[in-house]
Amino acid sequence: MTRTKLSAVGFIDAVKRGQVNLDEFYVNLFTELARLNEKHNFMITIAEGKPSSRGGRLAGLPVSVKDCICTKGIQSTAGSRILEGYVPPFDATCVERVKQAGAEVVGKTAQDEFGFGTFSTNCAFGVPTNPIDPSRSCGGSSGGAAGLVRAMDMPHVAIGQSTGGSISCPAAFCGVVGLTPTYGLVSRYGLIDYANSLDKIGPIAKTVEDVALMLSVIAGRDARDQTTIDKKPQDYLGALGKGKDDLKGMRIGIPKEYMGGGVDDGVRRKVLDAVGKMEELGARSAECTLLNTRYSIPAYYIIATAEASTNLAKFCGMRYGAEGKVEGEFNEYFSKVRSKHFGDEAKRRILLGTFARMAGYRDQYYLKAMKVRTLIINDFKRAFRRFDVLAAPTMPFIAPKFSEISKMSPIQNYMSDILTVAPNMAGIPMLSVPCGEIRGMPVGMHILGNHLEEGKILRVGKAFESLSG
Ligand code: GLN
Repeated sequence: MTRTKLSAVGFIDAVKRGQVNLDEFYVNLFTELARLNEKHNFMITIAEGKPSSRGGRLAGLPVSVKDCICTKGIQSTAGSRILEGYVPPFDATCVERVKQAGAEVVGKTAQDEFGFGTFSTNCAFGVPTNPIDPSRSCGGSSGGAAGLVRAMDMPHVAIGQSTGGSISCPAAFCGVVGLTPTYGLVSRYGLIDYANSLDKIGPIAKTVEDVALMLSVIAGRDARDQTTIDKKPQDYLGALGKGKDDLKGMRIGIPKEYMGGGVDDGVRRKVLDAVGKMEELGARSAECTLLNTRYSIPAYYIIATAEASTNLAKFCGMRYGAEGKVEGEFNEYFSKVRSKHFGDEAKRRILLGTFARMAGYRDQYYLKAMKVRTLIINDFKRAFRRFDVLAAPTMPFIAPKFSEISKMSPIQNYMSDILTVAPNMAGIPMLSVPCGEIRGMPVGMHILGNHLEEGKILRVGKAFESLSG
């Protein structure tokens, strides 16, 4: 199949024109999902069913949903044993919106437990493997989503979620497109939260157009999420330019801290080549600085674990999640249930987060991290006064092998997020697009924009995509 035939936009057009036999299509799709899942563990749950109508902006489109997003009647575990068997009686707002637009939810994608990880190796239900080289990671925490987008030769869009890079990282490692929207643009109602002040829901797809279409459907104010931004719904797909012309006069900033020592030479070269190509079409680039970058990892892990530890407190074996035999003192019972059902990384984060917000330590850690967050936001604000967008590598290296990951210490693991946590803390939108390969493995370029400038980063992404063919 050609790229256009595989694209969601092309497929939806064909469905609307009555050119697709949806019965046959969905039979093939579920066969393909089962086959891929056997090989790669992309999904925790495969759904069943097919669309009942041919109307709507997403008519007939298969959509996969990250497992931390609630889907009515389909198990939603967030990758954790503590939620095994939980079947939500309701849909998250984003799921409700895609269904209303005519899409079909085909299953729930594998992820690190509650989003805690960068390689999806912390998934309690099997680790998804990279479709290009199964000895390597898909990235995380939305690993199953990106892997499935890459592997399935059928039109499909995934809904992922990011706290500190979980859409961009797997998109980069699997060579697909991922958009993390501005914080508050997409409703979090129905999301099993990791860290509420950081969580964003966004699409992963094969093309920039598909991502733009999906964003148009899921974005916008939701009375059930008070943190959603009150902004008129926008047609991001319609606002996409024709491609290459959009780069004329575009000012691209290259943050020097994102091109430094920790970034592999090959990755750096690919991103600089990509910027060079954009310059040939009229963009201008210059170096810029995001001064507080080196504080971003410690600040992020304090804020994220502090929020995560409070979110996980409700899973105590009483009202939410797994239960056990009630015996002994409350604390004994609750420790037993939590020890049994949470994975190691969740436990590590509960300890870190609880410590960081304890009376006596709060000023030293949590409140200081919040101040650093403000400085980081100011760094970006300053950069966007001079530049339309910033470009950087999405991840400092290509998808690592599982054998390499198992040798990483928790700190090395956390350091992998050095290029993604700051933009996530600032709540700005970011788009990861493929920009070449190293030894057959994809490299991702990050295009960062100012708050609510999704339209602009999508136009740049589309222009770059049409350039690279
Ligand atoms: N790797 C980061 C973390 O573990 C980001 C994960 C995410 O965005 N959910 O916190």
